[in-house]
Amino acid sequence: MKIHCTCAPKRTATCNKCSRIRMAIMLKNGNNHLKTSGPNGRLNNPVWYNYYSKNRKPDNIIIAGMVQRLSTSDYAGKFNVLLFFDNLTGTQIQKITSC
Ligand SMILES: [Zn+2]
Repeated sequence: MKIHCTCAPKRTATCNKCSRIRMAIMLKNGNNHLKTSGPNGRLNNPVWYNYYSKNRKPDNIIIAGMVQRLSTSDYAGKFNVLLFFDNLTGTQIQKITSC
């Protein structure tokens, strides 16, 4: 399991290839300004990748870290559901519903 990324042009802490876990942030209605625009101007829910330096940690530790990061971000309190995927296989690992 890689814990260093060499594919990105500059050093980043996350990588859409090297990070092991992907998190989709399903925003509540009325938060379109927080969405990212894709091709055709379509708005997408934000996607985060784990810090790949943590790739060797267990899933639950990585996920807890991502949720912690989220709680201090602009998205805090503005999502209904978080979906976590294995970034290699695309398999859903966990679903967290906000309360
Ligand atoms: Zn990479």
